[in-house]
Amino acid sequence: MHDTADDDCTCERERQSEHSPSVVDSGEMLGRLIYADDQVEDATGNLKPGAFPLADVLDAKRGGWSFARLAHSTPASLLAKGKEFEDKKPDGNRRFRGVGKGLTGDVRAIAECSPNRDLCLIDDGLPDDPAHAAAVLSPSAPRSKSDLKAVRDKMLEIFSPVASPDDAF
Ligand SMILES: [Zn+2]
Repeated sequence: MHDTADDDCTCERERQSEHSPSVVDSGEMLGRLIYADDQVEDATGNLKPGAFPLADVLDAKRGGWSFARLAHSTPASLLAKGKEFEDKKPDGNRRFRGVGKGLTGDVRAIAECSPNRDLCLIDDGLPDDPAHAAAVLSPSAPRSKSDLKAVRDKMLEIFSPVASPDDAF
């Protein structure tokens, strides 16, 4: 999947999932679903570091940072996903706040720690969620938390503030 011999990774130029409509275009908008207290500052709607846990990109088994591709989503589908997140831990700590919206091209342009780019953005459609996309570390990205904090800060900047599902389109 990742072309580790070359920094110019080709993984995102080829469709990665048979369930996806297409590869992720650099003009597409992505939505990051926000549902926990450590993910958003309620007063401003700006995202907090918890919105992009470093463990999700450092541990390949976790599959990277997940997004909904807005071109293939609707307010109703975002609401349903948000509800699903709430129901996974029905202890009152999870409440769907909406989505952080960002441009694919801005994510691909992040090069805080690597010569070319820090993240690859791939189509990752699931059988019941074809609009699913994922950001994973590029082959040349560092694998240390301290370096990756700069990448996370850029992601917070790009995807703030949170919007309601209706306002995400
Ligand atoms: Zn890649």
